[in-house]
Amino acid sequence: MFALINFSYLTAAVCFILGIKGMTRPSTAVRGNQLAAIGMLIAIVAALLHKDVISYATIIAGILLGAAIGIWLARRTAMTAMPELVASLNGVGGGASVAVAASTWLHASNVGILGSTGWAVAIIASIIIGAITLTGSGVAVAKLKGSIGDSRIPKIWQLVTLVSLITVVVIGSLFVAGGAGNPVLLGVAIGFCLLLGVGLVQPIGGADMPVVVALLNAYSGLAGAATGFVLDNQGLIITGSLVGASGLILTAVMCKAMNRSLPNVLFGGVLGGDAAGGTQQDEGDFYAGKVKYATPDDLALLLDGARNVVMVPGYGLAVAQAQHSVKELAGELESRGATVNYAIHPVAGRMPGHMNVLLAEAEIPYDQLKDMDTINPELPRADVAIVLGANDVVNPAASEDPSSPIYGMPILDVHRARTVVVVKRSLSPGFAGIPNSLFIRDNSLMVKGDAKDVLQATTRAMKEL
Ligand code: NDP
Repeated sequence: MFALINFSYLTAAVCFILGIKGMTRPSTAVRGNQLAAIGMLIAIVAALLHKDVISYATIIAGILLGAAIGIWLARRTAMTAMPELVASLNGVGGGASVAVAASTWLHASNVGILGSTGWAVAIIASIIIGAITLTGSGVAVAKLKGSIGDSRIPKIWQLVTLVSLITVVVIGSLFVAGGAGNPVLLGVAIGFCLLLGVGLVQPIGGADMPVVVALLNAYSGLAGAATGFVLDNQGLIITGSLVGASGLILTAVMCKAMNRSLPNVLFGGVLGGDAAGGTQQDEGDFYAGKVKYATPDDLALLLDGARNVVMVPGYGLAVAQAQHSVKELAGELESRGATVNYAIHPVAGRMPGHMNVLLAEAEIPYDQLKDMDTINPELPRADVAIVLGANDVVNPAASEDPSSPIYGMPILDVHRARTVVVVKRSLSPGFAGIPNSLFIRDNSLMVKGDAKDVLQATTRAMKEL
């Protein structure tokens, strides 16, 4: 039975790896997801065959309750709130690792068989990483929802965080050195780690939250892998390591896309550095009388003569749920012989891949989705670039203004297109809270309104031309 269980875990791991590989391309993502789900089913069945499982009734009750909560959560979560859901799930994963490690320790302590030094390290690692992930994710969710702002935390809190960090390291070492036998050390470690999670994430700017969520995802995987060592469960070790590794890679990719170094993201706020985002600036003076407005009818006329059009989706397209309307306008343009492509910035929207998922929902062909490095050299040849609810990811300040909080973040160079049309409801800033000089460029026009309404009105106007 033991060999069968381990073989099943290996099969599940192969499914996970092939699944992750599938998810790297939109065209194979669905198959990749299905393969990973099959792997998870195999892993669950294998875990249930384990000799240590003594009560199937409790497990089935847990599965039913968990599935009911999961289905309810997934159904009520809007597409725009996915990052909050992902962050919550990271927190739940971290919390589960703490609970499993603590209860395993309690059971071992009650029967008087505490494990080796390696086991003690695994227990404390599960608890440290899991507890930090739990409260850190809670703060990330609150920041993404906007319930907690980016105001600098008082110096005393910075001190509390530093003291918590040192205490956790000292207590963790004492716990391991003492043969994992001291419950007080374990309890104190949990308390300080919960505090540390809050203290580490609170100072990080809102615009850096995607990086933090990706990192917390890696933490939840690493906590799970450590719990795998606690339980001597190969399936959990492999799965946790895969989540940890892919989360770390995603973190590195996100840092690159936002031009943030990881230490700067993590400690910029604590050390008084330049954590990005959240600084609302007064846009009144910045734009004063310099924005040129147009109507959907003007846009239709402009597009009538265009041969090369680039659509630039951003968070606002998701808010407006305008993915079908943009496809309809693109179809109208293509029927007139124009070429239409979609410029995809890696952090457009509110989660990695947000725009890909949104456009896939409208069955926009994958080969029209161009990533930043592919489309940027093409943009000077575009007759019209239509910015649909994107803001930060097209802000030229990122490459032109060294004092800007987003300076250095790679952007879509839409300002190099012959004409740029910005579709949004107002002059409000995007996620980073800063004005956008794109709106006042010579080659820039703004069509004010909800992205879906503007796209539909433009398509109607084109059909009447
Ligand atoms: P932004 O948040 O910079 O801007 C979105 C714009 O959409 C706003 O300026 C808003 O302006 C407009 N908008 C909102 N609703 C509508 C609507 N119904 N119709 C038309 N426009 C609308 O979005 P970007 O996609 O350009 O940039 C993403 C930002 O989010 C980056 O700063 C990134 O760092 C951050 N981020 C990214 C994550 C990711 O992983 N992708 C996760 C979390 C944050 P108005 O209100 O005037 O309409």
